[in-house]
Amino acid sequence: NQQILLAKRPTGMPTMEHFSFQNAPLPHPEDGQVLIQTLYISVDPYMRGRMSNEKSYVAPFKLNEPMNGRIVGKVLQSKSDQLHIGDKVVGMLDWQKYNTADINNVRKIDENGAPLPAYLSVLGINGLTAYFGLLDIGQPKEGETVVVSGAAGAVGMITGQIAKLKGTHVVGIAGTDAKTDFLKKELGFDEAINYKTTDDMSKAIAASCPNGVDVYFDNVGGSISDDVMNHLNDFARIPLCGAISSYNRTDGDFGTRIQPKLIKSRSLIKGFIVGDYSEQFGEGMRDLSTWLAEGKLTYKENIVEGFEHVPDAFLGLFSGDNLGKQLVKVSEE
Ligand code: NDP
Repeated sequence: NQQILLAKRPTGMPTMEHFSFQNAPLPHPEDGQVLIQTLYISVDPYMRGRMSNEKSYVAPFKLNEPMNGRIVGKVLQSKSDQLHIGDKVVGMLDWQKYNTADINNVRKIDENGAPLPAYLSVLGINGLTAYFGLLDIGQPKEGETVVVSGAAGAVGMITGQIAKLKGTHVVGIAGTDAKTDFLKKELGFDEAINYKTTDDMSKAIAASCPNGVDVYFDNVGGSISDDVMNHLNDFARIPLCGAISSYNRTDGDFGTRIQPKLIKSRSLIKGFIVGDYSEQFGEGMRDLSTWLAEGKLTYKENIVEGFEHVPDAFLGLFSGDNLGKQLVKVSEE
């Protein structure tokens, strides 16, 4: 059973030397458990935090033990009458080709609802993060302007589309022209700015947001956020979802520096973890599934094939290799 372990804790940007591969015996399910073959692995920016030994909302990965995260898999053996061979499930599982899991720790997937990878993107944590962060904290109102950073990623692209459904003017910020084109042409964003080729971000934001910014859904932090927040309207709302620009920084310069602007505009800035909304996940899933079925919401995944590519797919998140949700396909369905 091939596994990927945390070999070393990184300082700054991780590299391949922080991961190691190992073979372990195949696990056997006990009563109330199933044996699951890994089909798709989700790699996520928050895993960088877990590679460090810092206290956070989720425990650090242990050295020389398998990393873990959300996985979609197929039941190969079952010691429960609630899950059967061939069922597809999603859960937090180790980065290995086969896992055993208590049946209460995985959820059966409705295979008719959507393709399997969708349960790790739009119908998974990323879709729910966009949904609750934008609607509960951002509270977008028709005619307002919503800016989304990290807009061509898993959370960002769903956020912008929900903001469009709410009748707002939506501006996305992303790191390549292919991404900004995609946001405008495929997803209906009103404007999109490539932060890597734009010299004066503040000016570009002003031009894209002629009526100012009412909601800023922040996935990245740092100077991009400073530039957006300079254009906040009175009583703007800022769901603080992520700060990926700081995850590998070692200089402590995490930004942002806009307190006076926040005070003058009486803006609300609020960090959140999607798990805060776990009681309401059913409601979020219902709306996301409905919009998907009605063709009002679309999504994109960047799927690489091969278990050996899990570490590089993860590292690619920090250089923006992914357009849409980054997944690794490990086995055929
Ligand atoms: P993405 O699919 O958005 O992938 C990460 C993207 O971030 C990259 O594609 C890259 O795109 C961009 N990026 C990387 N480095 C930088 C940088 N230095 N400055 C600006 N952009 C950068 O990942 P997710 O959708 O999974 O996550 C997006 C954010 O949401 C992350 O910050 C994550 O931690 C957070 N998150 C928070 C949750 C919560 O509960 N609060 C839950 C899930 C995610 P580009 O080409 O545009 O640079």
